Amino acid sequence: MTTQIIDGKQTAKDLRAEIAKEVESIKSKTGKVPGLATVLVGEDPASAVYVRNKNKVCKELGFESFQHTLPAETTESELLDLVESLNANPGVNGILVQLPLPDHIDSNKILNAILPEKDVDGFHPHNVGLLTGGTALLAPCTPAGIIHMLDRYDIPIEGKHAVVIGRSNIVGKPIAMLLLHRNATVTICHSRTKDLPQMAASADILIAAIGRAHFVTADMVKDGAVVIDVGINRVDGKLTGDVDFETVSPKTSYITPVPGGVGPMTIAMLMSNTLKAFKNVNSIS
Ligand code: NDP
Repeated sequence: MTTQIIDGKQTAKDLRAEIAKEVESIKSKTGKVPGLATVLVGEDPASAVYVRNKNKVCKELGFESFQHTLPAETTESELLDLVESLNANPGVNGILVQLPLPDHIDSNKILNAILPEKDVDGFHPHNVGLLTGGTALLAPCTPAGIIHMLDRYDIPIEGKHAVVIGRSNIVGKPIAMLLLHRNATVTICHSRTKDLPQMAASADILIAAIGRAHFVTADMVKDGAVVIDVGINRVDGKLTGDVDFETVSPKTSYITPVPGGVGPMTIAMLMSNTLKAFKNVNSIS
């Protein structure tokens, strides 16, 4: 079996270049550019890195970025006021509140306060409903990035058996929905699934979104399967996915590495969503 490594880094780079080109062209015609607001509360170092990267990519692509860094003691009502002001700001097309928020703030309350048309993370119940209905403009970034990679590599989805391990609202459920809308037959597995290895071994497309290093082993993968590894785990200071890459990759037709697979796609899709939100509100096709 020849295995092709799906290069998420390159795919994300190509997508970013396309977005930058489109933004440049819209700017020359309308004078307007998309705007993304990031909101960081507290000093979680990982969150600070994520937000910094998002703002960096914004600049790279010609977006306007609105950065809000608030102290950990910020109250829920202060944060709601900020979200309201961003909702009302016509220059802001996307609002990203970096999670996790401090314990004294109800994350759902904050996320639900974001206008659905500015919800570029795709987590608002309105957008979750549209996703289920198959008409979402803004789908969650990591799952949307996975579909984008499959398409870039011309990997057929229709009629395939897709097995998703993980049922979170951020990854497992939305990727299952997107695959279903592309006419895959979808099985969702989780911690209470019986015979998970057998289930996984029947997948043409296997998505691992668990958060446990080396969870998916070679016996759980069918010959020629496409394996997408969403997991980000730190083992001895090294980033590792949910798939035991060394033993699994020789059995696959396509596989994503960690790092350099799904990860880089997430920020690129955030920019793609912000551009979509901007075009939607400005009636640009
Ligand atoms: P969650 O912890 O929210 O969900 C994990 C899922 O895995 C749950 O549905 C859980 O089942 C299931 N699970 C856990 N243990 C087992 C087990 N032993 N057997 C079967 N199923 C199990 O994680 P997320 O979905 O948020 O993230 C998953 C991984 O993806 C993490 O490593 C995260 O860091 C990474 N990630 C990567 C992103 C990227 O950009 N590359 C973006 C987002 C996440 P149950 O529901 O029954 O508890």
